[in-house]
Amino acid sequence: MSRFFSDKFSSLEAYTPGEQPKDMKYVKLNTNESPFPPSPKAIEYASRAAESLQLYCDPECTRLTEEFSKLYGIKKDEVLFTNGSDDALNFCFSAFCDDETPAAFADITYGFYPVFAQMNRVPFTEIPLNEDFTINVDDYIGINKTVFIANPNAPTGIALPLYDLERILQSNPDNIVVIDEAYVDFGAQSAVGLIHKYDNLIVTQTFSKSRSLAGGRLGMAIANSSLIRDLNTLKYSTNPYNVSSMTQAAGVGTIIDDDYTKKNCAVIAENRGYLTNKLEELGFTHTPSVSNFVFAKHPELDGGELYRSLKERGVLIRHFTKEKIRDYNRITVGTKEQLDILLKNIKEILQEARA
Ligand SMILES: *Cc1c(COP(=O)(O)O)cnc(C)c1O
Repeated sequence: MSRFFSDKFSSLEAYTPGEQPKDMKYVKLNTNESPFPPSPKAIEYASRAAESLQLYCDPECTRLTEEFSKLYGIKKDEVLFTNGSDDALNFCFSAFCDDETPAAFADITYGFYPVFAQMNRVPFTEIPLNEDFTINVDDYIGINKTVFIANPNAPTGIALPLYDLERILQSNPDNIVVIDEAYVDFGAQSAVGLIHKYDNLIVTQTFSKSRSLAGGRLGMAIANSSLIRDLNTLKYSTNPYNVSSMTQAAGVGTIIDDDYTKKNCAVIAENRGYLTNKLEELGFTHTPSVSNFVFAKHPELDGGELYRSLKERGVLIRHFTKEKIRDYNRITVGTKEQLDILLKNIKEILQEARA
């Protein structure tokens, strides 16, 4: 830290993204990216957009908003596009939390929430999950704070049914509830249909996971128009050009080719079943994931050891050092071929550990 760095950030601990090593080619199952390339339409549209990069992009994301609102059955002023959904989540912490209205989220959830809270200098409460890593809904009833829930949660993959989300929304009518649906397309129920029923609901989603555009950086907040106006005020006060023209075009191409996304999600759901069955056969236990990753541990293997041994063998998974979850690893559901390489290596590691 230089002597010029503001005191207000002296204790800020930045988010640690999953590694993207370039030293060799890994079977990459560590950051929940899609194993499939973007839709050919997305590539075609983005390439065409590249020809006009001398111009600023459309700050209103007009075409993207039209196509997206049609697909989702919402009005055009009920969505805001952002530079990945992280951008939208950051705006939510900034817009809807302060000293009088702290943030609340689970102790085991997306690691960016506490960072956004600190960055925006808002107090926050971390609410412990149950032993089995489920959310105790009663903890959130009438909590009087701005609530952030990843649904399905990360890194557990466990989802709450809409019924439980509605109880939280109903019991906190004067507070915003943000539902982070980064992984919703892999099998959970979406809360988007509730944005007219609850004026305190904001749903964030992303093109990074199910839509194969992690490097494009495209996310969105979906809510009633007055909440979207608030978020727009922050966007236009930060960077009106937060979604590049190539990314807007890639987004349009992806939406037009929505069947491609649906097909890929079905393959991932099938592969998730394959992976969990094979892991169980090898003695692993895991949480009931409806996401594109599996959160698993083995009684004979240390979580960190398994992660390191697999990395040496060219397979990357994600290990977290937090006390409560350090026995576990989060494994992204890849292609069958990738999973077979992973499983073969785990078998060998197990054999070595037992020898
Ligand atoms: C990946 C992820 C996001 C956001 O990713 P972006 O690439 O910024 O859209 C948000 N929440 C959770 C829980 C995630 O895992």
